[in-house]
Amino acid sequence: TDKHPQDLQLFLDKLGTRLQKTPQKGSVADYIPELARVDPDQFALSICFNDGRQFSTGNSTTKFSIQSISKVFTLAIALGRLGDKLWQRVRKEPSGNPFNSIIQLETEQGIPRNPFINAGAIVTTDSILSGSTPKEALAEILMFVRAAASDDDIYINEAVAKSENQTGHRNYSLAHFMKSMGNIENDCDCTLGTYFHQCAIEMSCEQLARAGRFLSGGTDKHHMIDKQRVRSINSLMMTCGHYDGSGEFAYRVGIPGKSGVGGGILAIVPNQASIAVWSPGLDSCGNSLLGTQALEDLSTHYNWSVFGSP
Ligand code: GLN
Repeated sequence: TDKHPQDLQLFLDKLGTRLQKTPQKGSVADYIPELARVDPDQFALSICFNDGRQFSTGNSTTKFSIQSISKVFTLAIALGRLGDKLWQRVRKEPSGNPFNSIIQLETEQGIPRNPFINAGAIVTTDSILSGSTPKEALAEILMFVRAAASDDDIYINEAVAKSENQTGHRNYSLAHFMKSMGNIENDCDCTLGTYFHQCAIEMSCEQLARAGRFLSGGTDKHHMIDKQRVRSINSLMMTCGHYDGSGEFAYRVGIPGKSGVGGGILAIVPNQASIAVWSPGLDSCGNSLLGTQALEDLSTHYNWSVFGSP
């Protein structure tokens, strides 16, 4: 990719055009009413290489709801604050269950399988909230994301947060169940209010790709968190970043990634690049259908799978 930037740009443009013509685009998340209104016919991709070059295609400056991709940022903040103590409250194992599943919580004493399923992310957010008000915690999360992206033009969509709160019965049940098991420290409404707002952060693919540089070792931000922690977070993205589709994503794409029901995916080529892709149509696991396809094509073409090249 180094010698021929024009080839990469052409590859991306062709990829975008080809995928946008695909008839099977998946379906937009409709359990959050505000997200159901998004036009499914959109596609964007942006790559930031560690040398500072950035390439984009499609609707790459259109903002979308990052949803569960926010869990990567809150995990980084929580690990920075608690260190390994966080692992007393949430584990590091793939769940094999959907993102909003409650079933393992009862048999596993209210300790979620990993920080990327909803239950685990709610615990992670709860840990950031302790000692602060929801407003302060959200300010800290936004500050981290803006610093990572080197861009202050990143905001929370209040309508999306409100919409999710109104229909968030499943997340309420997860939080209250964990509270009953002693694994939520704050008032459930405060913890969930913070969680719904972090999920409602909006970014464009260009912004998100830049924000992901702290995980790819990108030049200007590689001091945001230490290298050991970068490795920890990437490993969790690889094993748990796509819920019960994580094995499939590792098999097809072969790099760490984190999806969100807004249709975005943040993917990391360790030590090389940060990639953001967005297409609102989802597969049956709640991961972007065309986004996954785009990442598979890209990582296959450039041999980016961490599992070896053909
Ligand atoms: N805010 C969403 C929820 O809690 C996030 C889920 C997701 O992106 N997978 O349901």
